[in-house]
Amino acid sequence: MSELKDTPLQSLIIGSGPAGLAAALYAARADLAPVVLSGMALGGQVGNTDAIENYPGFPEGIQGPELVDLFQQQAERFGAEIVFDVATEVDFSERPFKVKTYAEEYLAETVIVATGASPRLMDVPGEKEFTGKGVSYCATCDGHFFQEKDVVVVGGGDSAVKEALFLTRFANSVTIVHRRDKLRAGVLLETRAKENPKVKFIWDSVVTEVIGEDAVQAIRLKNKKTGEEKEYSTDGVFVFIGHLPNTELFKGQLEMNEQGYLISDRHMRTSVPGVYAAGEATDDHFQQVIISAGMGAAAAMEAIEFLEEN
Ligand code: NAP
Repeated sequence: MSELKDTPLQSLIIGSGPAGLAAALYAARADLAPVVLSGMALGGQVGNTDAIENYPGFPEGIQGPELVDLFQQQAERFGAEIVFDVATEVDFSERPFKVKTYAEEYLAETVIVATGASPRLMDVPGEKEFTGKGVSYCATCDGHFFQEKDVVVVGGGDSAVKEALFLTRFANSVTIVHRRDKLRAGVLLETRAKENPKVKFIWDSVVTEVIGEDAVQAIRLKNKKTGEEKEYSTDGVFVFIGHLPNTELFKGQLEMNEQGYLISDRHMRTSVPGVYAAGEATDDHFQQVIISAGMGAAAAMEAIEFLEEN
C-alpha cells in the first residue's frame, strides 16, 4: 500500500547512476536532504561496467561498481538518502510534484530525472527466448560463464569493442559482428582489438536470428552487401548496439524527442519548471560517465537556485 508523505521533499532524484548520485552530492551539500530513488540497480549502467579508464582522478582506471560505491559514500556523507525503490508514476502538473514508487508516494518541490538508458535490443527471433541462456547485454555480469567458449559480440561502437576485449579474459574466441566495414569505436580500442589474437571480425553483417535448443548454439548472419546468409556457431551472443533512454514514465509529462530523450536546455531544465533532467535520459550524444556526472551536478545547482527563487 502506498503512503503519501505529507511534507514535500526539497529535492527528489530519480535514478542512481553518475548523474543521479552527482546531483545527490550537490543537493546534499546545499542542505536539501535529497532522496534518491535507486531504480532497479544502484549505479545504473556503470554498476555493470568493468574498468573505467576515462574518469579523471583514477589514472589506473577504476571498476564500475567501485566508482558507484564512492559516489554513494560521498553523497551520503552530506546527508543524501538513497532508497532502494523504483518510480512507477509521476504527476508533474503542479507543485509539489507527485512521484509514486512501489512502496511510497513522494511529494517534492524539485525533481531531477536521471533515469539513464538501457541496452537496445536486436529485435530478432530467438533474442528474447535465449536471453539468460547465451544472449547477454552485460559482459561483466555474464562473461565468466563463457570460460573457454566461443562468443559473438554484436556492434561496432566503443561498448562492443571494450566488452569484446573484456570477454577475451574468459572466452576462447570473441567474434565481433558489425553491420559496416569500419568500426565506430575509438582508435585506441580498435587497435587493442585488432592486436588481440582472440578477437575476430565479421564485417557488413547483421544477426537475423539466434538459434539453439536449451541454450544458444548459433546465429544466422546476413551479409548486407551480398545478401548472403549463413549460420555461425557460437556459445554466446553479447549485444552492444547502443541504448534507449528510460523515459517511458515521463510520456505526456515532459517533452521528449522522437527517440524518447528528454528535451532539456543547457541549465538542465525540462519543459516543466522545477523538473530537471541529467545524464543519458537526456543525453543522446556524449554518453560518458563524466558528462552524466557533470549534468547531475548542474541540475542540482539549478534546482537549488529554483528553490531560492520560488
Ligand atoms: P554507439 O556508439 O551508438 O554504437 C552502437 C553500435 O551498434 C554502432 O556500431 C552501430 O552501428 C551498431 N548498431 C546500432 N543499431 C544496430 C542494429 N540494430 N543492428 C546492428 N548494429 C547496430 O553505442 P555504444 O558503443 O554503446 O556507445 C555509447 C556511447 O558511450 C558512445 O558515445 C561511446 O563513445 C561511449 N562509450 C565509451 C567507452 C569508452 O571506453 N570510452 C565505452 C563504452 C561506451 P553503426 O556504427 O553502423 O551505426
